[in-house]
Amino acid sequence: MSNTETYAFQAEINQLLSLIINTFYSNKEIWLRELISNSSDALDKIRFMSLTDKSVLNDQPELFIRIIPNKANSTVTITDSGIGMTKADLVNNLGTIARSGTKSFMEALSAGADVSMIGQFGVGFYSAYLVADRVTVTTKHPDDEQYTWESQAGGSFTVTRDTEGEQLGRGTKIVLHLKEDQQEYLEEKRIKDLVKKHSEFISYPIQLFVEKTVEKEVSDDEAEEKKEDEEGKVEDAEDKDKKKTKKVKEVEHEWDLLNKQKPIWMRAPEEVTQEEYASFYKSLTNDWEDHLAVKHFAVEGQLEFKSILFVPKRAPFDMFDTSKKLNNIKLYVRRVFIMDNCEDIIPEYLNFVKGIVDSEDLPLNISRETLQQNKILKVIKKNIVKKCLEMFSEIAENKDDYAKFYEAFGKNLKLGVHSDSQNRAKLADLLRFHSTKSGEDMTSLQDYVTRMKENQTDIYYITGESRKAVENSPFLEKLKRKGYEVLYMVDPIDEYAVQQLKEYDGKKLVCCTKEGLKFEETEEEKKEREEKASSFEPLCRIIKDILGDKVEKVLVSDRIVDSPCVLVTGEYGWSANMERIMKAQALRDNSMAAYMTSKKTLEINPNNPIMGELKKRSDADKSDKTVKDLAMLLFETALLSSGFSLEDPNTFAGRIHRMIKLGLSIDDDGAEDDDLPPLEADVPGQDEGSRMEDVD
Ligand code: ADP
Repeated sequence: MSNTETYAFQAEINQLLSLIINTFYSNKEIWLRELISNSSDALDKIRFMSLTDKSVLNDQPELFIRIIPNKANSTVTITDSGIGMTKADLVNNLGTIARSGTKSFMEALSAGADVSMIGQFGVGFYSAYLVADRVTVTTKHPDDEQYTWESQAGGSFTVTRDTEGEQLGRGTKIVLHLKEDQQEYLEEKRIKDLVKKHSEFISYPIQLFVEKTVEKEVSDDEAEEKKEDEEGKVEDAEDKDKKKTKKVKEVEHEWDLLNKQKPIWMRAPEEVTQEEYASFYKSLTNDWEDHLAVKHFAVEGQLEFKSILFVPKRAPFDMFDTSKKLNNIKLYVRRVFIMDNCEDIIPEYLNFVKGIVDSEDLPLNISRETLQQNKILKVIKKNIVKKCLEMFSEIAENKDDYAKFYEAFGKNLKLGVHSDSQNRAKLADLLRFHSTKSGEDMTSLQDYVTRMKENQTDIYYITGESRKAVENSPFLEKLKRKGYEVLYMVDPIDEYAVQQLKEYDGKKLVCCTKEGLKFEETEEEKKEREEKASSFEPLCRIIKDILGDKVEKVLVSDRIVDSPCVLVTGEYGWSANMERIMKAQALRDNSMAAYMTSKKTLEINPNNPIMGELKKRSDADKSDKTVKDLAMLLFETALLSSGFSLEDPNTFAGRIHRMIKLGLSIDDDGAEDDDLPPLEADVPGQDEGSRMEDVD
């Protein structure tokens, strides 16, 4: 045809198509669910459009989804009176523009995902090729003419301006030419069962074109023309006075309604079974698994709405993709679908919660813009958050479920602690952390509090890159010895959350790598500490001189037991971990760094033999070279053990190599190694071996 244009599929889509066609999947039946779901979305769109412009329904006032199996042609046709597609939509949506999900779905498949997950990745249409080797899509959008798309996969598709075919008025007709081994989808029963299984809660009528054999009484003459019938003749003989009639069987067609459309949320929760919720959840979200939790509720009084909220079992593949839609709550007004991902109906951190809200009070013709200022919506939002938190607490009653939930959505809760000041306390109850005492399980803050020591007033935590990195941190030495529990906060978002949280149940959250860590002590302990502090004070001053601007202060520590020294940051500045996180952010504005990169305090351990030896040497000779030398190394090592990174790792490595050489008594000939700065006491002629022994 002259008005037919041929297009090549975008490369990834092409790849996806060959995967769908050539790979063996047992779960092919999902194609019907996917196409019905697309039809339902298209119907939602036209219904929404009609709220402000009734005339869009003129060409086809009915809203429906119709399925026609045709055994003679081996085709199944699905027709909807939805919004349809313009020519540009056809070309873009069905072939030339790949969604982010295209690639992600293929990756998921090769990682063992099931083909039934296709809908989650936004490429459900292509599932038609699981069962068909040729697909024809005829469509009419209110703003364009009718077009037909066709493809047998194989690299390309055609689009034709369609003037000759049956005119739809509005909507989309998809014809699947079934593969030889997929003829089962021509069976009425198979289709009925599938719709019941996957699409029962679609809110538009799904009608199946069915064959009915009916017995009809026809007059004898008529019957004669149709068929000679033995039975008929017997009847004749019995009653000669009666008008002669015969019964014949005739095949008729009619539309069978396959789904109840009474919205599930209008029913009383006690009357809805778990299976029904699961089925509704799946048709709502395209998820292939059941939900983890559900909350079905009605709010009555000044304002009325009904809602069903779901928590999925897993996080979606693109949860924190900021270009993705904002949330997963569908808004209805008095049973009419208004919009998807309506802004301001649920806060961002709860964007993983899926469900519907049906309001009795909002106007039907509300637009996105007017919604933003709408007071009713604010109240709805508040209630939804409250119900979500209730639902999460309910999940927490089952340990295994909660572990699953927390693994998937713990980050969202922490984001909530950071951003939702009104619900912060409730969200804090939902947090879980590993700790020095939790073992493999995680602990809640509430449980932590019950384990607090009698004289303990604060909740202690440490932040870092991983559990492994913090478990043996020198900062935990004293706390462990005293039997205080320390929470491990090793998720980057913990740093942000804990900054806002500040306290729990009236107890301050204290970071054990920062200033401000104080312990109760007896008079005796206090006296001993002060004595130590004053006797090490000269050494502190000497080390401060050596390190110069690298540290703000050098103090005698009360928090370490075994290590020689640690680096502590200011109470309100960044921790070492935060510094690491900020450095890792590619698009960071550096101007904050100057204020927030904390001034570091070197805390030395007076009970550590290295420090004892350094004190002895510096007491004897204030400018002892070994002291200078080792102060630098100790500082750099403390940077690492305290969670910082080295600005100049090569210099550090150089120093270590020199120490190794000293240890191994390798003669360096006093040569400067590859431009590395010398150890400051690297005076030629000194007995190097003994120097190592001194500090050992
Ligand atoms: P998804 O439906 O998840 O967006 P699909 O691959 O199933 O992904 O469909 C791609 C797009 O094609 C849809 O977003 C929609 O714009 C369009 N489309 C598919 N089926 C229909 C239909 N029956 N009516 C109107 N548009 C449709």
